[in-house]
Amino acid sequence: MTICKTRGLAIRKLDYSETSQIVTFLTEGYGKTKTIAKGIKRPKSRLGGAVDLLADCEVVFLEKPGGDLHILTECEATSIFAGLREDPERAEAAFAAADLLDRFVYPGERGKECYQLSVELLGALDRGEERAEILFLAFVARLLKIHGLLPLVGHCVACREARPARESMFSSRLGGLLCKRCLANDPYAFKTTAGSVALLAALAKPDRLPRRRLRMSETDLRNLWVLVARYLAFVLDGLPDIVERLRRRMCKQPDSAGVGQRIRSGASA
Ligand SMILES: [Zn+2]
Repeated sequence: MTICKTRGLAIRKLDYSETSQIVTFLTEGYGKTKTIAKGIKRPKSRLGGAVDLLADCEVVFLEKPGGDLHILTECEATSIFAGLREDPERAEAAFAAADLLDRFVYPGERGKECYQLSVELLGALDRGEERAEILFLAFVARLLKIHGLLPLVGHCVACREARPARESMFSSRLGGLLCKRCLANDPYAFKTTAGSVALLAALAKPDRLPRRRLRMSETDLRNLWVLVARYLAFVLDGLPDIVERLRRRMCKQPDSAGVGQRIRSGASA
């Protein structure tokens, strides 16, 4: 067995027995790593108590050759991002991101880029400097980009020539907008706007930080939620419940009094 030491975010955990847990980390050095934390829930465990979901930890584990469940031997949380846990909106965005990471990152994939992206997201949600939904959508855009799944912008995805109209049909199967001539390429294409696809691409650019400078209309943002939900449902073979809950929470907020005011001031800052 090899001793592996790295940083890792706990992205999934489940009880294995009365005293043990199975914790999946997205690590900086070894990608997605599933570990068994034996005796972690015992009062005097040398692992220092149960791991919090989304805690950023220094971890040491024993790599089991040929196996996919490794043995956690040390775990020290360096940040639990306490700030984001106090706000239901930001917490839900963070847990939805953890769910997506578990689904997107496949075992054996080098996870450094995804790990860094996730720590960046959690830090931003923790500080609460930007709207949680913008941060979450930017996270999704970059996650798609890392995995080569970011939709094509600017041209029809089928003929690569025509510029799609402002209101166009989006093909999840082909990963982009279709021009009028190419509609027959995907009978399941759905209506969206070129602006929402362009917004997704703009959010995928890490050099665009801080994102509050991005110009966006509320209409493009609402369309983007629909696009992201339908595209993720296609890519992942079903939309995770937590992402759907987050979408509903973000899209159905009453635009009145304090809530709307907070949203608008966040958007125009
Ligand atoms: Zn076309």
